[in-house]
Amino acid sequence: MKGDLENTCVREGREDAPRSSASDLSLEENLRQILVELGEDPNREALVKTPRRVAKSLRFLTRGYRLDIDKVLNGALFDVCYDEMVIVKDIELFSLCEHHLLPFFGRCHVAYIPKRKVIGLSKIPRIVEVFARRLQVQERLTTQIARTIMEKIDPLGVGVVIEARHLCMIMRGVEKQNSVAVTSAMLGAFRDNPQTREEFLTLVRGN
Ligand SMILES: [Zn+2]
Repeated sequence: MKGDLENTCVREGREDAPRSSASDLSLEENLRQILVELGEDPNREALVKTPRRVAKSLRFLTRGYRLDIDKVLNGALFDVCYDEMVIVKDIELFSLCEHHLLPFFGRCHVAYIPKRKVIGLSKIPRIVEVFARRLQVQERLTTQIARTIMEKIDPLGVGVVIEARHLCMIMRGVEKQNSVAVTSAMLGAFRDNPQTREEFLTLVRGN
């Protein structure tokens, strides 16, 4: 899958930056206004704290914008003499579709073949998290994960498969309830060598 590199830009780490309360209040105020526009009474007891809760929830669900990939990896790269495929499969994934601001969720499978370095296994789900916790389309998310691993680990190749269900399809009745969208990004050996790609896909399927 080909995508724009500029889409993969990882912003400077601002995770520790204090939230500007003005920005939080503005988000809350806008959410109050949305309640009004929907025909609700934002002063109704059960709704009074809803804008604050939703604002906090949205900040969390988009925290990937404020994560710095290098800080996340924190130098967890190790020199090894291992050149077989490394696979981390069934990584839980939650993201927000950028078209409807509704969740899509499922599983992500990541594989790479080391050249000189491997990365701590626990870092792979963290990389997925950095890009999933943003407004996304599944295709771009898949590519960003693959390209980041390619860039940071410099392996012989990377394969990423995401299987996800989109609430914007399911809840709005656009598609059948059980439809799953599958996307993949294959780079290096995974793109050039059908056997490598097939080995990965077979291991992923063997759930
Ligand atoms: Zn959508």
